[in-house]
Amino acid sequence: MTVSDSLKNDLTRLLGPEHVLNAPAQSPYNSDASRRRGLHGRADAVVLPGSAQEVAAVVRWCYAHDVAIVARGGGTGLTGGAVPTDGGVVLSLERVRAVRELEPGLWRMFVEAGVSTRDVQRLARENGLFFAPDPGASEQSQIGGNVATNAGGPHALKYGVTGAWVTGLEAVLAPGELVQVGGWARKDVAGYDIKSLLIGSEGTLGVITAVRLRLLPAREAQVALVVFVGTRAEGCAAMLSVPAAGMEVAAMDFADGETLAHLAGGYPGEVPDGAGFALLLEVDGTREQVEQQTDELRELLGGGALAIEQPQDAAALWRWRDGFNGVLSGVRGAKVSEDVSFPVERLQEGLERFEEIAARHGLSSCAFGHGGDGNVHATVLVDPADDAQLDRAQAVGAELFSLVGELGGSIAAEHGVGWLKRGLLTSQWDARAVQLHEQIKLAFDPKGLLNPGKKLARPPAAAS
Ligand SMILES: Cc1cc2nc3c(=O)[nH]c(=O)nc-3n(C[C@H](O)[C@H](O)[C@H](O)COP(=O)(O)OP(=O)(O)OC[C@H]3O[C@@H](n4cnc5c(N)ncnc54)[C@H](O)[C@@H]3O)c2cc1C
Repeated sequence: MTVSDSLKNDLTRLLGPEHVLNAPAQSPYNSDASRRRGLHGRADAVVLPGSAQEVAAVVRWCYAHDVAIVARGGGTGLTGGAVPTDGGVVLSLERVRAVRELEPGLWRMFVEAGVSTRDVQRLARENGLFFAPDPGASEQSQIGGNVATNAGGPHALKYGVTGAWVTGLEAVLAPGELVQVGGWARKDVAGYDIKSLLIGSEGTLGVITAVRLRLLPAREAQVALVVFVGTRAEGCAAMLSVPAAGMEVAAMDFADGETLAHLAGGYPGEVPDGAGFALLLEVDGTREQVEQQTDELRELLGGGALAIEQPQDAAALWRWRDGFNGVLSGVRGAKVSEDVSFPVERLQEGLERFEEIAARHGLSSCAFGHGGDGNVHATVLVDPADDAQLDRAQAVGAELFSLVGELGGSIAAEHGVGWLKRGLLTSQWDARAVQLHEQIKLAFDPKGLLNPGKKLARPPAAAS
């Protein structure tokens, strides 16, 4: 009997045979949305526990038998965080999806990790409330995965990233204990902020089984505006002018000229001739506030714009925006997109220099993202069959990360570090802070079995 057979026998005893799966090479559980970049792992087994207690039992068993545990949400991650690069057990949260509490009068819900992001948004909406985080793959991603990556999205500009809406967590911590951190208390400084350490920890510190979410009353009205300008410089200046004028918009995304050229066909409206940059704005609030803000934005941005469009169907605009990744991947067969951020006042310089880096490596590039947050999805379009192009894309990424460090930004804005960006933190943090990062991992996971190799601060060879 192989190790893998005995592992499956034991896990089958815990969960039942239908909830322990083999993972042949082509199994979707061996990859995530980073598969377009060629990343695949090989799990020894995939388990589908049905409750937090069963998650704890699996972690306890794995920890006792020195088996790696890779938590998996919806598998939409773009950095390979849920990929079993080192074998072990993929622990999928898809069956842990009860709504434990929904209290509309108190603006809150307590849901299990496997509830999809879209269902959290829908439940809030059906109860007259609003869950603000809106990462792009919401049909498939899970709230546990969103918390584990501290996901952003267009509305993070006004409302903050996912973690801002989490007041408490339930998680299984090594060696297999179900623990509550935080709760419903609105103020709580009783200890170190362990909840916030788990938020964004990408399965490397514990397995999140349920989250307590704070909600807002539904917004009465929203209006989307698309502002087309001729150049990147005009677009970046326009983005800076909005907060400078004292205006708080709900979302301010952007698409550069190359992105527009590839995406114009599907735009739900008319892209004007000569458009070299577009701002996608949303304002929200009461009807009066929205009307007033829309007028103010038109006045502020109208002078320099080629056109300002107000799509009747704002949802169609955001659907178009959600489709950028797919369309751009199809242009040459693949794309390599790096999710980085710059301080907003350095965004223009960051975009210009990224384009110059890609051109120097002979690759066609484009950029889009959440401009109000300085968050750029810096993209090169490649032929996946051409190894030389893939190597050059890698070189572009390395130069981009140095540029980010030079300009005071972040090598990982909202998609996490996972496997693809492991070992880069030294370019951004002081040595002592990097050391603390590693000590925190050790304190939570002394055996190094929770998602091994992911979110590493330093390259593996350099780690102490
Ligand atoms: C088309 C597209 C658009 C996207 N747009 C955005 C966007 O606008 N903003 C954004 O931030 N991201 C975006 N993403 C990235 C992705 O959707 C997010 O990172 C999302 O939060 C991942 O959730 P998931 O449930 O799919 O997690 P997975 O991909 O399954 O896992 C992601 C990481 O979290 C860990 N994890 C998952 N669940 C748990 C858990 N319960 N406990 C502990 N660890 C766990 C995994 O181990 C892994 O490290 C996009 C992806 C795609 C494909």
